[in-house]
Amino acid sequence: MSFEKVAILGIGLIGSSICHAIHKFGGAKAISGHAKSAETRAAALELGLVDSIHEDPAEAVKGADLIILCAPVGACGALAAAIKSNVQPGAIVTDVGSVKGAIVRDVGPHVPPHAFFIPGHPIAGTEQSGPRSGFAELFEGRWCILTPVPNTPPEKVAALEALWTGFGSKVESMTADHHDLVLAMTSHLPHLIAYNSVATAADLEEVTQSEVIKFSAGGFRDLTRIASSDPTMWRDVFLNNKDAVLEMLGRFSEELSVLQRAIRWGDGETLFTLFSRAREIRRGIIAAGQDTAAPNFGRDPAKRS
Ligand code: NAP
Repeated sequence: MSFEKVAILGIGLIGSSICHAIHKFGGAKAISGHAKSAETRAAALELGLVDSIHEDPAEAVKGADLIILCAPVGACGALAAAIKSNVQPGAIVTDVGSVKGAIVRDVGPHVPPHAFFIPGHPIAGTEQSGPRSGFAELFEGRWCILTPVPNTPPEKVAALEALWTGFGSKVESMTADHHDLVLAMTSHLPHLIAYNSVATAADLEEVTQSEVIKFSAGGFRDLTRIASSDPTMWRDVFLNNKDAVLEMLGRFSEELSVLQRAIRWGDGETLFTLFSRAREIRRGIIAAGQDTAAPNFGRDPAKRS
């Protein structure tokens, strides 16, 4: 199953990885692209990511039977409005945004009735961004969640699912609200904690910045990696998944108070039980093939990677 022409709107980490994956694994006969900046458009051509590149997103979607919005969540509504008059009958309009309820709210109204709207989210990424950061294997072994709107024909969902499974992903469908709640816990909250931990360290006046960097091996270094993710993308995630993130943050604060109390009162049993439970969860993630059991996340210490 292959699409005739896929239009990729936004050629950053995810958009460029989709281009690489199509070149490596198939899924579409031609790729047209749109990027906001002239620099990214030039890079997309130089890297051979697309067959054609367009400053106007409406030009990029002409003749496309699959349109994938790969811009930050907050930009997708305006992109959908800009392309709507050129979306061809029968085309699938999808996206890769990290939040789904806001995409349904902002993009949905602009999808013409003769097209099919199937929001999506590949749970795959790195802290890198831009057109040069993508690679074909990014989606291998990772989940891709689809949140089709009611009454979407199953064959359209199956066509999009086939594209993602062709890239090596595992695909599951759920409602947009459920997606946003799950991802608030598994992705958005950890990023918030990382951003806040790095900000706290930076604010400590008695610890000089050089000491924070010098002794950063261990947990803090891993938090700084997460906290180096694209600020625009993450600003849009928190602005657009407010309720679910606040719900998870409330639960997190309650758990943190339990830890704070245990430390204050020397309650080692509570600490040990909680840490043991966390370790079991980590083992479960490895058993599910979602991470490596190799020490130091499989990094080569000699390369300091
Ligand atoms: P990225 O590397 O920063 O690339 C974003 C792309 O969107 C760039 O091509 C940028 O164009 C374009 N863009 C930005 N603002 C735009 C606007 N107002 N109108 C049109 N295009 C615009 O970001 P990414 O990591 O690929 O993320 C893209 C989407 O994937 C986001 O919705 C994000 O939530 C989702 N996602 C990200 C990850 C991850 O780990 N990074 C994982 C899964 C899903 P210029 O380069 O010309 O500025």
